[in-house]
Amino acid sequence: MTALFPTYKRFELSVSEAKGTIVKDTSGKEYLDFGSGIGVCNLGHRHPDVQKAVETQLTKYWHVSNLYHVPIQESVAELLTTSSSGSSVFFCNSGAEANEAAIKLARKATGKTKVITFHQSFHGRTFATMAATGQEKVHTGFGPMLESFVYVPFNDIEAVQNTIDGQTAAIMLEVIQGEGGVLDGKLEFIKEIEQLCLANNILLIIDEVQTGIGRTGKPFAYQHYGISPDIITSAKGLANGLPAGAMIAKEHLSSFFGPGSHASTFGGNPVAMAAADAVLQIVFQMDFLNEVKEKGIYLKEQLNKRIGTSSFVSDIRGKGLMVGIECKEDITALIPSLIEKGLLVLNAGPYVIRLLPPLTVSQQEIDKAVNLIAENLKKPITSI
Ligand SMILES: *Cc1c(COP(=O)(O)O)cnc(C)c1O
Repeated sequence: MTALFPTYKRFELSVSEAKGTIVKDTSGKEYLDFGSGIGVCNLGHRHPDVQKAVETQLTKYWHVSNLYHVPIQESVAELLTTSSSGSSVFFCNSGAEANEAAIKLARKATGKTKVITFHQSFHGRTFATMAATGQEKVHTGFGPMLESFVYVPFNDIEAVQNTIDGQTAAIMLEVIQGEGGVLDGKLEFIKEIEQLCLANNILLIIDEVQTGIGRTGKPFAYQHYGISPDIITSAKGLANGLPAGAMIAKEHLSSFFGPGSHASTFGGNPVAMAAADAVLQIVFQMDFLNEVKEKGIYLKEQLNKRIGTSSFVSDIRGKGLMVGIECKEDITALIPSLIEKGLLVLNAGPYVIRLLPPLTVSQQEIDKAVNLIAENLKKPITSI
């Protein structure tokens, strides 16, 4: 019996509390969380610094609206822009809203309408971001889609070239497709996209909703590619579990979002901003990011050692602590069986096990998770 919409296919786990990498269910059983609430709790559950910042803000004010100056927004915007190619930030509450803002800004700034996105991409569930998402299953039943989105195969530069025309306002992509299967954009491909954008007066929008905030060992994943996007979108890990999104754009775009052009009642909520401020002060430190890189290398090494030669596994990939294990068979049944063993993992499509542990994960926790994955992969999938 439930009074909730059946929107989500939920696993048999009712959460009572969570701390660090551990989630506890209502019976007291503990789980190692290698999903971080879908890449959100990047500093683990209830990180002490973030909790303290939130508690402090709760005693001051919760909401006053964007009719007034909210100094903590300035601080978060400063942190976001000093660690990226952008110089102006618009705050909202989710990834879809950040992408929605990016699409609106791109149309307004260029006076053009067409946006090129990629097969298997994921950009959100609002009307524009659903249309931007290059996955048929996300569109089903909601047609007609908002027009002017064109989808091309990922890592296929010729397809991009052939799709560009005088109406192309922007190219929007995840440099590593998250929901699509933890698929890395090739270095050459990403660099050539930037060149095409520069040559054709097209805005480059990088969706960093999943890959940003230290997930891959850089503040934002595009920084592995040496490019300089016009617009970057962020959400998920930004406030470690409180709702916050951000659209970060280059200086020359800021005037197109003047007073009255775009807004969000909750955008830049002071409590969420207090959390984001504490998150970024930790995550954007070089030492912290280097540790993420090292842990990511260790995780992939251990996975390769234990399951790299398994006949069940076809690829182990990803950057930093965003890791995909591509399997030769459907892994849908494997996820609940791992949960039962005490390990929370994600999938990305039917063949990829996706690991997004907290960036604060310990080596022992990585060992334990790899062990559980290796033990459960050994069994023939039919017996699960
Ligand atoms: C999760 C996600 C979104 C959507 O974020 P919401 O906060 O659910 O709206 C958009 N883009 C990417 C890459 C994502 O992973």
